[in-house]
Amino acid sequence: MRIAADTSVCVGAGMCALTAPRLFDQSDEQGTVVLLDPEPRGDDGAAAREAVERCPSGALSLAE
Ligand code: SF4
Repeated sequence: MRIAADTSVCVGAGMCALTAPRLFDQSDEQGTVVLLDPEPRGDDGAAAREAVERCPSGALSLAE
């Protein structure tokens, strides 16, 4: 599984970092998503799916 994050559409809502803090952070300047681990495994894979579903802007996507 591979996560892609498009910072040009991210609105900095922070749901991703709240849902999966091992995978996502937010930049200090604009609050946009920072991908910490683009290839999650195991439990992190399930957390990644949840974060993608919760993202309000559609900035996150997954490729298997
Ligand atoms: S949940 Fe979506 S919109 Fe919010 S910070 Fe994460 S990627 Fe950006």
